[in-house]
Amino acid sequence: MAERTLFTRIIDGEIPGDFVYQDEHVVAIRDINPSAPVHVLVIPRKPVRSLAHLEEKDRELAGHLLLAVRKVAEQEGIGESGYRVVINTGDGGGQTVPHLHLHVMGGTEFTEAGMRG
Ligand code: 5GP
Repeated sequence: MAERTLFTRIIDGEIPGDFVYQDEHVVAIRDINPSAPVHVLVIPRKPVRSLAHLEEKDRELAGHLLLAVRKVAEQEGIGESGYRVVINTGDGGGQTVPHLHLHVMGGTEFTEAGMRG
């Protein structure tokens, strides 16, 4: 069996995480090194390696992840002001943890290219 990922270990409580949302399929934790005032990672409990490894059978999970993003954003008070969602995918995409996760970032103003200021 493949080695358990950092996020699986956080989900299982072996490594501490600041959880802001949990349900049957998904958890959300604060990023340890935030790039914005609100920076939450939405992570499937299922250790899908990356977006590139998502399969047809994960269709429902994919929808669940997006709905969890919306819930987290509302809960964090950025649902109205807006936020950025990023999915780094593979080495070329800058992914460092090989367990699919969606970065939800807000509480600041993003320009087309990046963060203002
Ligand atoms: P990636 O670069 O794979 O898209 O994002 C991985 C993210 O995980 C990074 O933003 C990094 O700060 C965050 N991260 C790395 N280790 C930990 C950790 O132990 N706990 C938490 N909460 N976030 C982590």
